[in-house]
Amino acid sequence: MAKASKGGRTAAVRLRKIEQALVDAALSVRKKAYAPYSRFKVGAALLTDDGEIFLGCNVENASYGATICAERHAVGNAVAAGKREFVQLAIATSTSPPSPPCGICRQVLGEFAPKLKILLVNPKGEVVRIRLDKLLPMAFSSQSL
Ligand SMILES: [Zn+2]
Repeated sequence: MAKASKGGRTAAVRLRKIEQALVDAALSVRKKAYAPYSRFKVGAALLTDDGEIFLGCNVENASYGATICAERHAVGNAVAAGKREFVQLAIATSTSPPSPPCGICRQVLGEFAPKLKILLVNPKGEVVRIRLDKLLPMAFSSQSL
């Protein structure tokens, strides 16, 4: 049983089996993040419609703009494997409450799954459930061109 974090309060959250697998994978890959500059390690685990999980961690660079976030790393790994249908994403950070994805990642995730289900988690077991369309309302998309 995980703890939900909402406005500083915590409550129990029941995770489905696949959600727990996503959370565990995101927490695990977070440890592999390369973040010598910010020391803000992030892990992401992306579930595809056929049940595969693709991982990503942030990879920083001395030229800060060359840094890639964990979420976009996971998307790139999935797309390179021929996957484009995404069901759910777990994002692991060490913050309390767990941090949401940055704006660039929201945009990239929205390209493939505008209503993606997201779990924000941390090693303390806190979980925030949110959907991408709540994080990125009135998104710019292919329909906007
Ligand atoms: Zn990002």
